Amino acid sequence: MGTSSAARMAAAVAGGCLLGVFSGCGGAPRTLAPLPPPILSTKAPPGPTLPTEPPGPQPKPLRRIPGAKIVIDAGHGGLDPGALGVGPVPEKRITLAIAREVARRLRERGATVVMVRDGDTFVTLDGRAAVADRQRADLFVSIHADSAKRASATGATVYVSRRASPQSLAAAQRIVEAFRAGGIETRGVGRANYRVLVAHSRPGVLVECGFLSNAGEARRLSTAAYQARVAEAIADGIVAYVAR
Ligand SMILES: [Zn+2]
Repeated sequence: MGTSSAARMAAAVAGGCLLGVFSGCGGAPRTLAPLPPPILSTKAPPGPTLPTEPPGPQPKPLRRIPGAKIVIDAGHGGLDPGALGVGPVPEKRITLAIAREVARRLRERGATVVMVRDGDTFVTLDGRAAVADRQRADLFVSIHADSAKRASATGATVYVSRRASPQSLAAAQRIVEAFRAGGIETRGVGRANYRVLVAHSRPGVLVECGFLSNAGEARRLSTAAYQARVAEAIADGIVAYVAR
């Protein structure tokens, strides 16, 4: 939400509060309320009917991907904290929190999810990659958070290897699109031969969810609310890729 619309909403809320103060909790005074028309018929008035459409916008039905097998790799763990950044939370905890949220959302959509780690444990890079091959994953998704010397660097990047398959590239593009749709800053698709992308033969992406070297992004990435937004976008992108 932009500042101006937030300000408009705040003004609208403030207006509503003032109206409440001057006219009582119910809004208009009772004496001014129009009376219902007298009932002339002897028939009983109709009872309350259920609305044909529930009020409010309907949540979009979840696109389901039953049968898809997704391996989620929470970066670092155990003796390897990952980037320490400028925030209070090490990368290994942020990656696990986001990975768990992604897994939960994918399972809701019918996917089979394998977590490389689901606790504070150390797994070698080749050990992580081996899970992709062993599980014959439809997609391997490694979750990380970035760090840079330049403290102003921000935004999520989705990496594929330099000689990525069209499948890996398509998955990365779908996740980037989902970040944009979810209002999460993204630097787009990057290319790098990360070990967890080149040491197996399955489609794979590595998501750097933002920069822990930037104070604002480190703070956001340490909150459950932002982790959930990032996870929602990653899950949306994975579903869009599998269901393409
Ligand atoms: Zn990392």
